[in-house]
Amino acid sequence: MPTQQLIQKEKVALDAPLCRTCGGRCCQGSPGIWVDPERFFTLFFAGQHLTLEQLRGRLDDLGLVLWEKTGVPIPAPRSLLTGCAFYSADGCRFSIEDRPCQCLALVPNRKTLTQAQGCLCRLPKGFSREQAGRRWQKYWIGRSYEC
Ligand code: SF4
Ligand code: SF4
Repeated sequence: MPTQQLIQKEKVALDAPLCRTCGGRCCQGSPGIWVDPERFFTLFFAGQHLTLEQLRGRLDDLGLVLWEKTGVPIPAPRSLLTGCAFYSADGCRFSIEDRPCQCLALVPNRKTLTQAQGCLCRLPKGFSREQAGRRWQKYWIGRSYEC
C-alpha cells in the first residue's frame, strides 16, 4: 500500500508549531512504537511478512530493536540515554509517513509547555502499549511464533 494511503489510515494528531516550541520532550523520553504490524511490514519490508527470527536479523540495519519485556516482541526505535535514537535537534529523522504509530497518534497538549519537565500529551486508548502487545501477539501467533 502506498505510504500516503498508510498515513491516511493512521491516526495523526501532530501539531507541528506546538511540538517545535516544545522541542520534542516526548522523544527525549521513551520512543514510540509501531502498534500495527501490517503498517510496520509495509513501511520497512514492502509488505513482506517476516518471522521473528528473520526480523531479528534485519532490525540492526534499520536502527531498530525489539521490546520484549512483556513477552511479546514489538519493534521500536533504538533508545539512548538521551531518548529516542531518531531524535535530533531538527526533530525526528523519520519522515512523517514512516514514524511509529504511537508518535503519530500522541495528542499534543499545550499544558506540557507550562511545566518545567514531563509530558502531558496523551495517547488514545487504541495506541496503548497493551493494545500494541495484543496486536503483535496476534501477528506472531499467525506466524507460528512460540512464546
Ligand atoms: S511532548 Fe507533546 S508537545 Fe512536546 S513534542 Fe511531544 S507531542 Fe509535541
Ligand atoms: S521516532 Fe521520531 S517522533 Fe518518535 S520518539 Fe523517535 S524522534 Fe520522536
